[in-house]
Amino acid sequence: MSTFTVINPATEEVVQTVPLTSAEETDAAIARARAALPSWRAVAPGDRARLLRRFADAVDADLENLARLEVVNSGHTIGNARWEAGNVRDLLNYYSAAPERLVGKQIPVQGGVNITFQEPLGVVGVIVPWNFPMPIAAWGFAPALAAGNTVLLKPAELTPLTAIRIAELAREAGIPEDVFQVLPGKGSVVGQRFVTHPAVRKVVFTGSTEVGKQIMAGCAAQVKRVTLELGGKNANIVFADADLEKAAATAPYGVFDNAGQDCCARSRILVEASAYDRFMELLEPAVRGVVVGDPGAEATEMGPLISAGHREKVTGYLPDGAPVAFRGSAPRGSGFWFPPTVVTPASAGDPLFTEEIFGPIVAVLPFTGEADAVAMANDTEYGLSGSIWTSDLGRALRVSRGVEAGNLSVNSHASVRYWTPFGGFKQSGLGRELGPDAVDAFTETKNVFLNAEL
Ligand code: NAD
Repeated sequence: MSTFTVINPATEEVVQTVPLTSAEETDAAIARARAALPSWRAVAPGDRARLLRRFADAVDADLENLARLEVVNSGHTIGNARWEAGNVRDLLNYYSAAPERLVGKQIPVQGGVNITFQEPLGVVGVIVPWNFPMPIAAWGFAPALAAGNTVLLKPAELTPLTAIRIAELAREAGIPEDVFQVLPGKGSVVGQRFVTHPAVRKVVFTGSTEVGKQIMAGCAAQVKRVTLELGGKNANIVFADADLEKAAATAPYGVFDNAGQDCCARSRILVEASAYDRFMELLEPAVRGVVVGDPGAEATEMGPLISAGHREKVTGYLPDGAPVAFRGSAPRGSGFWFPPTVVTPASAGDPLFTEEIFGPIVAVLPFTGEADAVAMANDTEYGLSGSIWTSDLGRALRVSRGVEAGNLSVNSHASVRYWTPFGGFKQSGLGRELGPDAVDAFTETKNVFLNAEL
């Protein structure tokens, strides 16, 4: 049996060895998920709702344990990890309201009655990246289960521990074993079977744009439904009329949270030229003030990168002579540490400014005027999130409408609330998760005409 050794990224110590699901085991799990469909679908709406609320309660009761598991497996700060486990609970509670509200329509027609039903899709495969193992899993499985689908969840190879625990909690809450299964394993094996196996009717994929394109192409062969949440190179646009102190004080947290391993990281800061020098003056102490260290300590604001390989990739963006303006600190010794780093590339064509580094590096460039800011923000294949700092309401609205991204915030870096829609423009994704409409993406509309004249 092949296995994966989970390493604590803050200490490089072995945490645990996890068996990897084989292709044959994946097929068997898919068959069980398919067989479980009729009985899960037949659970009365109120009972399905109650089961999801019990699942939420089980997650809540285990919140500290789940958070500690994430600290050890992923190097997330304990504060973030608690929020992440709480997000799973909140999603389950939020979507537990859906089963009784999956209403169709009665549409006027001649000679009878026309009604629509929101039918479950069938077996749904959810493929999760390593950067937010808990929330991203729940963004898929909570609405999918609520809509009456059975779910297979594949965590990332590097970060399976919380998903395995969440499956145990589902069981404890009374969710039948074959209705929600967690299959730790390789993308090329388990994830690929979700794409190619005809019984899986939808793939929910969050990960790199490169793999997302392969998933979409693979799903096309069976016209399989697909939701994609992919990469980002998000702009934080700071106008000269903004509260510069606040903009500079918060900018590090908009990009260095989760050590920059965040699809929504504001990894490009665009500053209006007239405010550039002042902004950089204010940004430097803010970056140096980010508390980097033991992720289990309450005061820590940034932990390590996920793996040695990933740190190597991030380091590759800073060859000798790289335009580093200033850096924060990071522990030395064991652990995949990387200090918060601010770079000032010479042009907007520099890979530091165009590529998703997925680490704690932020590139700052000046712009001149509103049109230039929007053009620079949009000069990317990505379109996930972004921030706009200004005290001019009209400008905030104009720029929000002009920036091609799915999730924007004005005078804030908040991107994710479970009750508002989330997803990307352009090559950042396809479809929307979260919010009031996410359940629809796990149903098909069926239209039925009943002849009243026979
Ligand atoms: P990745 O694409 O390498 O892997 C993501 C998942 O896909 C993993 O579970 C992996 O095992 C699986 N996978 C890999 N190859 C596969 C294949 N051929 N078939 C099926 N599954 C396969 O991404 P990653 O490095 O784990 O995550 C980082 C990326 O995720 C970044 O680009 C980041 O922006 C993106 N991301 C996007 C969002 C969003 O909501 N838009 C959120 C988080 C992360």
